[in-house]
Amino acid sequence: MKLCDCCVLLSTCLIMDLMFVSNQLIQRIQEKFYPAHLRKQLSLAAKKSGFTKPVFLLSFDCDTYKDAQVVGDVHDKLTEVGITPIYAVPCEILMKDSGAYQDIAKSGAEFINHGYYEHSRLHEDGKTYESWNFYDKISAKEMEEDVLRGHDFLSQFLGREPKGFRTPHFGSFQKKTDLERLYKILLKKNYEFSTSTVPAKAIQHSALYKVNGLVEIPVGGGYDFPLTILDSYSFRYSESFKFGEADYLLQIRKLANWFEKTGSPYVLNLYADPSQVYDWPAFFSAMAQLAQFNVNSYEKLIKIAESNE
Ligand SMILES: [Zn+2]
Repeated sequence: MKLCDCCVLLSTCLIMDLMFVSNQLIQRIQEKFYPAHLRKQLSLAAKKSGFTKPVFLLSFDCDTYKDAQVVGDVHDKLTEVGITPIYAVPCEILMKDSGAYQDIAKSGAEFINHGYYEHSRLHEDGKTYESWNFYDKISAKEMEEDVLRGHDFLSQFLGREPKGFRTPHFGSFQKKTDLERLYKILLKKNYEFSTSTVPAKAIQHSALYKVNGLVEIPVGGGYDFPLTILDSYSFRYSESFKFGEADYLLQIRKLANWFEKTGSPYVLNLYADPSQVYDWPAFFSAMAQLAQFNVNSYEKLIKIAESNE
């Protein structure tokens, strides 16, 4: 029996989805039982990308108006300990509440495009969020509009074109075909990099990998669970997540101690939201231990990788 083109396409998609799910299952098992093996693989991934020692980047997704209120203070505290954060702010927020961000941009911090439209709201309880504009749920046209309007606004705001992008709610937008659609749009505007994939992609490719003409920089995980993103929301606010604040701090300390002890190549690309850490003194002291490894922008990170190629 000869299958029609539609059936061939459908079965190819089905096989790819099954492979995606089984890969995720294998990774979960590896993370639970063999975290040291995964750390080693991530170190090899960094070495493959040209790194000879640990490097650490901290980027902030600033999705709510509360972030705009506290970000100046958070930026100053981190600068004091020797860390320069990188910023991803939806442009609707940047437009309405730009004061603190203007000062931060003037200080030379890197800003990356995080889409034009707001995609998250903090409820009045100060703990729960409502989220939308997931790129796997909106149409290709809507996604393109979000990226390109974001690009135009951020170019005006910065006085130069942004070179990097982070997908809103990137965790749900990891399929190869989805990412390829995004990269095509980014290439139209001469983007150099995206930092929108999960830690497992670093193992699959390398710590920084070239794909469709762009560099992709996966976000990083913990010491004991290297494939679980250390995001401030889950560890501090989520009621269903199995880990808490103390676990987050312990992971940062363990990573910093491991970097100090071994000096193994590693790219730790952390992200948080300013409004989820501004009132957490222990966050700042844990970060201070990573300051010696800080690279202040993704553009610089790519230069380091290229200079060691
Ligand atoms: Zn966001």
